[in-house]
Amino acid sequence: MEARIPQTKMIVTCPICHNGQTHPGHSTITVSKPGGATIVFKDVPADICDNCNEPYVSEEVSACLLEQARAATKAGVEVDVRSFAAA
Ligand SMILES: [Zn+2]
Repeated sequence: MEARIPQTKMIVTCPICHNGQTHPGHSTITVSKPGGATIVFKDVPADICDNCNEPYVSEEVSACLLEQARAATKAGVEVDVRSFAAA
């Protein structure tokens, strides 16, 4: 049995285009809550496909983005652009 390697450190074939490979980098991710805030996060750590540029964020980062979008919705924010602050 091999130890499990964290997903973010793996270079994998892109599940969308099946051509490219993902590499660690940073991307801009837009999170839109239905009837709530639309937040554009810049400099989000993500694995990015070198073929189609699809960004893949970890569950941890994804949860953090959703939490911030929920907080913004609660605060009455409709649209915001912010840099991603790692927790
Ligand atoms: Zn791809």
